[in-house]
This record gives sequence, structure tokens and C-alpha cells, in this order.
Amino acid sequence: MTDKSVEAGRRHNAAALLEKPKPDEPGLDALLVSSLTNVRYLTGFTGSNATLLLFRDGNAKLFTDPRYTVQSKQQATCRIRIAKGPLTKSVLQEIARTGVKRVGFESDRLTVTEFEALKKDLPSRVELVPVAGLIEKLRMVKDEGEIALIRKSVNLNSRALERGLKRLKVGMSEADLAAEIDYQSRKLGAEGPSFDTIVAAGPRAALPHAHPGSTAIGAGMLLIDMGAFRQGYASDMTRMVYLGKADAKYKKAYGAVLEAQLAAIDAVRPGVSTNAVDRAARDVLKAHGLDKEFVHSTGHGLGLEIHEPPRIGRKDKTKLEAGMAITIEPGVYIEGWGGIRIEDTVLVTAAGCEILTPTGKELREL
Ligand code: ZN
Ligand code: ZN
Repeated sequence: MTDKSVEAGRRHNAAALLEKPKPDEPGLDALLVSSLTNVRYLTGFTGSNATLLLFRDGNAKLFTDPRYTVQSKQQATCRIRIAKGPLTKSVLQEIARTGVKRVGFESDRLTVTEFEALKKDLPSRVELVPVAGLIEKLRMVKDEGEIALIRKSVNLNSRALERGLKRLKVGMSEADLAAEIDYQSRKLGAEGPSFDTIVAAGPRAALPHAHPGSTAIGAGMLLIDMGAFRQGYASDMTRMVYLGKADAKYKKAYGAVLEAQLAAIDAVRPGVSTNAVDRAARDVLKAHGLDKEFVHSTGHGLGLEIHEPPRIGRKDKTKLEAGMAITIEPGVYIEGWGGIRIEDTVLVTAAGCEILTPTGKELREL
């Protein structure tokens, strides 16, 4: 083997998964990858559309169109086919040429139109086998290079928050502060936000996914949930600030959420199932009489996408492994009053975990 690229190693690992995509089912001869994120992970190519990848062990071919001739040549660490017509037609030719029989496809990523186009002209010996989440499973555990990039993204995100807060003024709208944060994030080198920045003032903090609007930021609580993409990798953090002197109710609720967040982080280590981490947060909030106000799961994986497996929720039983990057983000939401969420990006390590987010979590008054 002369190909020692990171992606070749990943394709090698992925090929091992093809041998047993599901229990009690024969292996696959090839996998057709249509998720652009998975294509990027397996080839290094970052084209934003018109891309398919067909691969077997040691043998991968990227199909894209003439707009990406130069870019694919610069980035992709596998063979490339620039298709003049529909990509599916070229893929079908490759399937016919290579003699593969069982071809997996990403049933949660391929469009119905693409599927129909493939199906229509498929050689009769070929069977299309739906598989979902195969490459995502591989992506759960990050390699050293990926961890370094996530770390950089997380650090950038924390710096952008501080710069944004420096520009916060009473009377400014939520949308204004969100725009300021996004601008600072870009100035620091982000490609863009990893999701729409959430800025929610006062009672609007009771909406876990509040869209920043014209509401003026005044005295009281302010929830900021933000993330960046930096060199393809996502970060995610939620912090609360209180404009003015925090009242007793806020202090109590903040203390409870922080205690829950720390308990969940404390539970993170290899071998622990994700629902146990979720339970650690939920148990603390229950002791404070706030478990009914915690209306979402405790966290999620992140990497090339902002939401990736594993989920850290009540029903999720993924066993944590060293190298997984996850968020821990319990919250409580009370209609008419507001909400509190505290979120860090955390890396599972051999010894337990490391909190990557450098921003402090003490109750913050401005
Ligand atoms: Zn999150
Ligand atoms: Zn978040």
C-alpha cells in the first residue's frame, strides 16, 4: 500500500464494516455514499453538491461533475470520475464494470429521485441494500487530527463569545447581538456558525431553540447558544449571563442546572452508556424538583456535523469510547419566567473526560 492518507485509513476501517453491516446479514460488496459529510470524511473532498462515492476496500471512486474538476483533483485522496451526464449513470456503469452484487446505499441520505434513477437501470444481478448510519458509526470516534480541529473550533467559539459580550449594550436586540457574535466568529477564522446562533432574553429563554428577534435585551437573564465551523469541525456552547443583580430564583435554578451539568460530566468515561450520563443530569434536577422542566436530552456528538451520533438521551445506550466528542447541556425551561442551559463540548478520554470548552461557568452578572 502506497496510499497513506488519513482518508485511506478511514476507508480501510469502513471496508471492515461492509463485511458485517447488520447482524445476521451477508456482507456488502460495495457502499454507495451520498452524504456529502461522509464523502468528505472518506476522501477529503469538500464539494458542496453533485457528489457520489462508490467504494470497496482499497478501491474508491468519487463521482462529481465538471464544476469540481480542479477542486476534486486537489483534495480527493481516491480516484475521480468527472461525469458528463447524470452521476447515477456513471455509478451504474462502474457497478456493471466491477461485477459487484450487493451494493449498500445510505437510505437516510439518498434522495428518492437518485434511488429511482439507480434502480431503473440496475443490472439484474445487483441488489441495492439499505444501510443507514454506517459511516456515522465510524465517525463517532475521532482521530487525533480531528480532536485537534475540534479543540481549535471550541477555543475560537469561546473567544467569539467574549468579543460579542464586550459589544453588548442594554437595549440592543437579540438579533443584533447574534449578528455581532457571528461577525466576531468569522473574524476569528470560522467558516460560519455551526447552527443559527441563539440569543434569548428574559422569558424568551424558556424557548430552548429561540430564534433571535427584535426583543430588546434588558435587565435579567440572557441565554446564548452558539457554535462555529472551523476547518470543517463544529463547536457548541451555551452560556447564561445576567444583566444586573441576579435574584434568588435565578441563582437557585442556575445552581441546580450547573450541578446537573457537572454530575453528567462526572459520569462521562469509556464503557458508560449514554443513557447513564443523561440520568446523572436528570437525577440532580429531580432532587431540585426541576426534572419536569428539563425537556430535551442531555447532549449529542459533534464533529463534521453539529449533531452526530451518539445521542446522550434517556433511551440511548451507546457505550462511550475514548475519542468521542460530545456535548453536555442540561437545561430547565419555565414558561413566563425564562430558562437556563449550560453546555460544554467534552472529549471522552481513556481516563474519563476532558472539558474542551475554556469558558468559565460561575454565575455571571454584567
Ligand atoms: Zn448542543
Ligand atoms: Zn448548543
